Amino acid sequence: MWVRACFTSYAGGRLPVVSAKLPAMKNSYHSELVKKHASLPARVMRFETPHGEVFTPSFMPVGTRAMLNYLTPADVEQNGSQIILGGNTYHMLCSPGMEVIEKAGGMHPFMGWHKAMLTDSGGFQVLSLSKKGTVCLIEEEGAVFKHPITGKIIHLNSHTSIQAQKIIGADIIMAFDQCTPETGGREAALAALDRTHRWLVASREEHEKNPYSAYGKKQALFGIIQGGSFRDLREQSTAFVLQQALDGIAIGGEVIGFDMPKTGEIIDWVRPMLPEDKIRYTMGVGLNPQDLIDVVAKGIDIFDCVAPTRNARHGTLYFGQIVEQNGWLRFESEGDNCRILIKKSQYARDENPILPGCACYTCQHFSRSYLHYLFKEGLIAYFHLASIHNVHVMQTVCTRMRELILSSG
Ligand SMILES: [Zn+2]
Repeated sequence: MWVRACFTSYAGGRLPVVSAKLPAMKNSYHSELVKKHASLPARVMRFETPHGEVFTPSFMPVGTRAMLNYLTPADVEQNGSQIILGGNTYHMLCSPGMEVIEKAGGMHPFMGWHKAMLTDSGGFQVLSLSKKGTVCLIEEEGAVFKHPITGKIIHLNSHTSIQAQKIIGADIIMAFDQCTPETGGREAALAALDRTHRWLVASREEHEKNPYSAYGKKQALFGIIQGGSFRDLREQSTAFVLQQALDGIAIGGEVIGFDMPKTGEIIDWVRPMLPEDKIRYTMGVGLNPQDLIDVVAKGIDIFDCVAPTRNARHGTLYFGQIVEQNGWLRFESEGDNCRILIKKSQYARDENPILPGCACYTCQHFSRSYLHYLFKEGLIAYFHLASIHNVHVMQTVCTRMRELILSSG
């Protein structure tokens, strides 16, 4: 019984296991509920992939371009990361191209990450790159991009996206969708919803022809709930996605992760409809450690966000304590908004680590003073050390949530 799980030591965190001897990795995907929190929708799930098992809640560091910014796979693993978002389909089609990835044997060997991996379908880029001025024509069948530098024409549709994700070889692949903009009102949300549903059916049909990667590994297909900030559209989309009997459920759209109160409201709308045994993924959540705590409290299992490493690069380092309060957790600090701006002159002679008590490599070996110096001088080592800390804090928050849920009730 997973409920009776014990803990074993694990770099950067503690994960539950049932025995000292782990079963051999199976070429299959399976997810199950381990334990629900005694009074909240928060839960620990376990899912098995051909590249290992994952216990949730679990934050996925983002390696959009087959690279985790300023972090090596070893850094990320040492931080307790069990799964990453590796290689976004659009970016991989642009460069290095599918031939290179296929020759390498897939994204896992190409980027040197051997644990579980999820990849994105490219649907988000249909929205974000068209906003940034990249030539992008959205048609009924899919989207056509012209790469802004190389001029390379990229066709993204349900067929090409799923086929590219099979060459990427991620353990979890995403249905091709149209991410809903928050600026277009109900009409735009409805149009994106209808198109996402048609593309979802086409993605599922394409995947079901052969639900394995180009390297013979089983892949799970997740569908994406759209519908913007409209309750009836979110519920309609949830019902449609569930009809497709997919392996897991994602909640997407521009609003998710950017507007946390609205994100929480949307989760509350759809959660009563969701099955207990499937992984729930909010796409793009993780601007702050507290954001993870908030969505897990509402029953979400996995999330990805570029913010921890982007914040680190810009000198914003997570700072706070994980405090237990009314049976759940808060990430708190006094007066610093849970972050340190390392450029501030007050840190020039501060010999404390970024976060006293933090077990990350950076906090164990370096002072705020040293990081302030590296940052002010623009030295590359800063970006590496700062990114290690921010990702570590996210994984520590996940570990604490797992422990609390497993011990609750
Ligand atoms: Zn640290």
